Amino acid sequence: MQVRKHPLISPAIGTARELVSLHFGPTDAGRKVYIQAALHADEPPGLLVAHRLRALLSALEDQKALRAEVVLVPVANPIGLGQWLDHSQIGRFELNSAENFNRHYPDLFQAVVERVTGHLTSDESANAVLIRAAMRDAIAALQPRTELQSLRQVLYTLAADAEIALDLHCDSEALMHLYAGSPLWPRVEPLARYLGAAATLLETESGDYPFDEACSRTWWLLREHFPSHPIPLGCVSVTVELRGTADVTRELAEQDATAIIAYLTQQGFITGNAPALPQLLHEATPLAGSEAVEAPVSGVVDFRVSLGEVVKAGATVADIVNPITGDTTTLRATTTGVLYARTSMRFAHAGMRLCKIAGKVPFRTGKLLSAK
Ligand SMILES: [Zn+2]
Repeated sequence: MQVRKHPLISPAIGTARELVSLHFGPTDAGRKVYIQAALHADEPPGLLVAHRLRALLSALEDQKALRAEVVLVPVANPIGLGQWLDHSQIGRFELNSAENFNRHYPDLFQAVVERVTGHLTSDESANAVLIRAAMRDAIAALQPRTELQSLRQVLYTLAADAEIALDLHCDSEALMHLYAGSPLWPRVEPLARYLGAAATLLETESGDYPFDEACSRTWWLLREHFPSHPIPLGCVSVTVELRGTADVTRELAEQDATAIIAYLTQQGFITGNAPALPQLLHEATPLAGSEAVEAPVSGVVDFRVSLGEVVKAGATVADIVNPITGDTTTLRATTTGVLYARTSMRFAHAGMRLCKIAGKVPFRTGKLLSAK
């Protein structure tokens, strides 16, 4: 294992942070897998999964079983990890800019088009090599001005030329679920099986460029732009939501790390036979079909459905209780699907998102991820 340290721009004199990446396996195989944990720094399940992955990958490296370089960033957000306010961790937004740590990754499409136009051939592998080099070049040309921008550049540099990029997150209270680009589903489906995902949400553009899309979307845009040249979907990039914030146990971490290793074996990045594929628990559904049930009024949240329940359109999801007026506002689902995530808070402000239902029929447009 090689340890590399990447200094971030110092936000103030006397202050400096760095990102640490761990590198396993051959660096000359021309293949790369990238895994990072806790880009939202207040989402700790991935940190423990990364800890287990570190041990498993070290053992595989010793056995010479890695067919690709595997880059593991066990703490993807040292800025957010250190942000505390009133005894609460603020790991989702940078306090200085109020920007979500998992949004606003630079769109490389145009920069890559400029670099590869006139150089693509009829050889798909050679095109992939060319495109990855163009991506590295475009990311190196970025000129970060802030600590946050420099963090994005470092993470992007480590991930953009990988064939698999796994971004380990979690929700508030949730079952295992995934977000990925729609064209990637055939490659993501085995991961959904090994991890036991209760939902997989697919889209081709979710808005505001989250990390997983930044790594994968350029590829299908290039395919559309250069239809006469063979271009692979070069990066299978997935946001893995490792259940809820408090779902941090050694048993779950072991289970999830083992599932990720099984997937990498099944995909040919690790030698040996992959374990048999478990059954797919739920078919993938469009992100545009995921209903976020919102509280129209403030009050105490009394959930009427549990995680994993299949909610029917029209069914009661929660009551919002106002103990001052005695009013109860009943919230009903408008779509049918599995309830895969809900807030751990039991007091709602007006307009607050309370839970998510993975419906099969797309009905939303515009930005599909929560701004928050
Ligand atoms: Zn997250």
